[in-house]
Amino acid sequence: MLPHPCQRCGGIITPDDDESTWHAGHIIDRADGGGDTPEDTAPEHTRCNTAAGGRRGAAVVNARRAAEDAARERTTRWW
Ligand SMILES: [Zn+2]
Repeated sequence: MLPHPCQRCGGIITPDDDESTWHAGHIIDRADGGGDTPEDTAPEHTRCNTAAGGRRGAAVVNARRAAEDAARERTTRWW
């Protein structure tokens, strides 16, 4: 399987890299219907996976904030 480019940043992960710095990540997140078969996973840096999770979380928070702002605006107009 290695060496293989990180599926998120493209940096080459080699068998010499410490195992704590990378892991097999899902090409399609399990939450989006991806599986655990070798075809559905590829190596990626742990830090790249964490960064992606952070962005996904931020998008959810921002969407919730936008919905709250829209609801508040409607309430303000009614009064
Ligand atoms: Zn990477």
